[in-house]
Amino acid sequence: MTVQTFSDLGLGAPLLKALAAEGYETPTPIQAQAIPPVLAGKDLLGIAQTGTGKTAAFALPLLHRLGATGGRPERRTPRILVLAPTRELANQIADSFRVYGKNMGVTVAVFVGGVKYGAQIKALAPGVDVLVATPGRLLDHMSQGTVKLDNTHALVLDEADQMLDLGFMEPIKKIVRKLPSDRQNLFFSATMPPAIAALAGEILRNPQEVRVTPQATTVEKIAQKVFHIEAGAKKDLLVELLAQRDVKRALVFTRTKHGADKLTQYLDKAGLNAVAIHGNKSQGQRERALAEFKAGKVQSLIATDIASRGIDVEDVTHVFQYELPNVPEAYVHRIGRTARAGAEGVAITLCDVTERGLLRDIEKLTKLAIPAEDRRVDQSRPLPEGRPEPQRAAKQAQRKRGRARPEGGRDSRLAPASGEARPSFGHRQTQAAKPTGDFGRAPRPTPSKANGYGRDTSAPAKRSDWSPMADSGEARPTRRR
Ligand code: AMP
Repeated sequence: MTVQTFSDLGLGAPLLKALAAEGYETPTPIQAQAIPPVLAGKDLLGIAQTGTGKTAAFALPLLHRLGATGGRPERRTPRILVLAPTRELANQIADSFRVYGKNMGVTVAVFVGGVKYGAQIKALAPGVDVLVATPGRLLDHMSQGTVKLDNTHALVLDEADQMLDLGFMEPIKKIVRKLPSDRQNLFFSATMPPAIAALAGEILRNPQEVRVTPQATTVEKIAQKVFHIEAGAKKDLLVELLAQRDVKRALVFTRTKHGADKLTQYLDKAGLNAVAIHGNKSQGQRERALAEFKAGKVQSLIATDIASRGIDVEDVTHVFQYELPNVPEAYVHRIGRTARAGAEGVAITLCDVTERGLLRDIEKLTKLAIPAEDRRVDQSRPLPEGRPEPQRAAKQAQRKRGRARPEGGRDSRLAPASGEARPSFGHRQTQAAKPTGDFGRAPRPTPSKANGYGRDTSAPAKRSDWSPMADSGEARPTRRR
């Protein structure tokens, strides 16, 4: 039978209700493949990256099993442990568990670096259903005795390859040694270098392997453009591009943290609304920047690769590669931040002469020639309501600050192109491979704030809601103990 809906997959009513509220209609390929074996209690090896719907692929069946088992967590113990490489990804995963589990009174805690221990200890004290952690911070808690893992019967390792890159291999092994041997393990990685395959081999028992290839999807759905331009003229071109009407929410990539800060300041001077996110920012700053960007309060998020990894923001209309990444795979990761959940997106690369080799490597990897765009940008169209005209805004900002003209100034070579054909950013790639991870999504209803995410003891999830299989006379997935 072809799986059409989430209820075909056997998920319980509280989850189905939460998914309907989120506007999810059809399981993504990774969800269709991963949910049944995880519901059945099997270990899983998922080769998939962010953007494929992998978070729901592990969160939904684990929540279902939690509901089916009933019971409560023990003090200072999580029932499900999720390890993630970055703070942002950890917080995002925790949010997903809260959203999907909102009709079950699921409790979720997050252990990440950069925040005080006290609040984390307090959150875990009564025990939680789900703990999402970065490995370093979890180890700190383990050595202080503020967390116990002897009743944690499900482990998720997300973005394992990224954890390897960040040096988390040993911390992960230490953590895994403290878990009960009788547990379910889900292991996700975008790539499978030998060290990751070895780690998977150590942790997983007779896993079901599921694999999706989002690269083709990503490349297919994104209109890509490259501007060949002098390094010194990039800033001004970016200002002009960001002022285009269709640029609603943009992610801009720089190669360095310092570069991200400098660019953010420049955009700010030009009257554009931008915030930077990178590893030198405090956790509070990073969270604030992300929240403002998600809420649409700022138009552009200026990011480095590591900071952006796993960031899942809906409706990113444009991804700008202000500087090309050193490794071609990062290009695909970067542009994958747009065209999420079935939407279309635009990826624009600003390439100077020193970056041509990097561009060629990217074209080789994606098997696409990225169309080169004329540098002239149409300024004749009216700007979106409330959006300051960049040049005027830049001058106003200078006057206010009593400074000389902004660094780099306007490049006179970027002549206004009134009357000339404007770049067609809507251009679609046609040479790309067929998408494999496409999935539709119904319009999202306005979120209801009335639904608290904490455990609602007055209205526990009814066990009968959890028995789609028991109701139909089928065996419920059993917990391996
Ligand atoms: P992930 O790969 O887990 O980061 O998910 C990528 C994005 O897809 C997130 O914004 C999810 O909320 C969204 N998403 C996941 N599953 C579905 C689905 N079945 N239908 C629509 N959107 C989804």
